Amino acid sequence: MKFIDLQARLNARNSQGLLRERKLLTSAQSVEITVNNQTLINFSSNDYLGLANQPQLADVFAQSVASFGFGSSASHMICGHQQPHKALEEELASFLQRDSALLFSSGYMANLAILTSLPEKGDVIIADKLNHASLIDGARLSQADCLRYAHCDMHALDQRLAKSSQNKFVVTDSVFSMDGDIAPLKEIVRLCEKYNAVLIVDDAHGFGVLGETGAGCSEHFCLSEKQVPVLMGTLGKAIGGYGAFVAGEKNLVNYLIQTARSYIYTTAMPAAVAQANLENLKEIKNNPQLLKDLLDNIAYFRGLCSQYNIKLTNSNTPIQPLIIGDNDKTLAASEQLLQAGILVGAIRPPSVAKNSARLRMTLSAAHSKKHIEFLVTQLTKLEIHANT
Ligand SMILES: *Cc1c(COP(=O)(O)O)cnc(C)c1O
Repeated sequence: MKFIDLQARLNARNSQGLLRERKLLTSAQSVEITVNNQTLINFSSNDYLGLANQPQLADVFAQSVASFGFGSSASHMICGHQQPHKALEEELASFLQRDSALLFSSGYMANLAILTSLPEKGDVIIADKLNHASLIDGARLSQADCLRYAHCDMHALDQRLAKSSQNKFVVTDSVFSMDGDIAPLKEIVRLCEKYNAVLIVDDAHGFGVLGETGAGCSEHFCLSEKQVPVLMGTLGKAIGGYGAFVAGEKNLVNYLIQTARSYIYTTAMPAAVAQANLENLKEIKNNPQLLKDLLDNIAYFRGLCSQYNIKLTNSNTPIQPLIIGDNDKTLAASEQLLQAGILVGAIRPPSVAKNSARLRMTLSAAHSKKHIEFLVTQLTKLEIHANT
């Protein structure tokens, strides 16, 4: 392509073990999927509650398309805002015990919206170093200054907050997407109160997973709307659907509607997608066994790993990384698992820091004990254990 040598750039990535490839699924999403005619047990999905392909959805979706059409035909501001969107926003707000919620087409867009609308020029964003890429990109697009603090380091956060006389926004993931650890939100809330900072929390991996009923990090830590005034979550993970939300006081929603470019200048999600998300949200409420099964599976997996001396990080969420370090070794390990019929993500830089490449295993309520036992058996056969 003219003066850009794309082949050379691709080759360079390949030689560093950084080339990424898409796998083509010829089956539905499930804990067992088909890739290249091979059945794989899937330990790489964010479908934590097994809702992405739950049986009611086909009918719910079809009926909604029949009533509202498929395409939403415009942005929410023009004529794309339909009844199922409103119903889903109301159900989300009630589940989260927030005043109101605003739907976005994706979590990436929701985070751009938050960080480009709320912090203004002269303000400062103070962000955890391991925040999700969408929060990093939002901060880059924002007019505000941006500082980062060492991962979950409350002393570092305190120092950053103490130094600044600007309006301050603290931004963090609730559950970190590549490590599975949970931010110390109680402590972060206390610091935000101490320094009069606004807290923005990305609950992408906490929503549907944390808390007694799955309402997420604010339920888990008993945090009110006042304490977490800007709460964001996605519908593409535990909800098993697509889209995202920002929840908080009515004026937060009103203001984002007026100012957030990634809300205003994009087509609304199809109404049927909103309806299917709503169906799954209700399923989480009506079927608490799903969350119990997920927690059971996490405990079972960790118990087996400890029995076989497989050194996991100390995550208690569905995200269970096994850090290997070297890119090529990580790729080889995931390839070995693939040969055995297991799909696990090989996560490498820039998704994670250099020399911290890892197998990122994710657990679902839909995994059977047999699936988990098989995974652990295969993990014990990996060559990496000797030198990690
Ligand atoms: C997945 C993810 C997002 C992006 O959400 P999408 O709906 O997939 O765009 C944002 N933040 C975190 C922490 C995530 O893991």
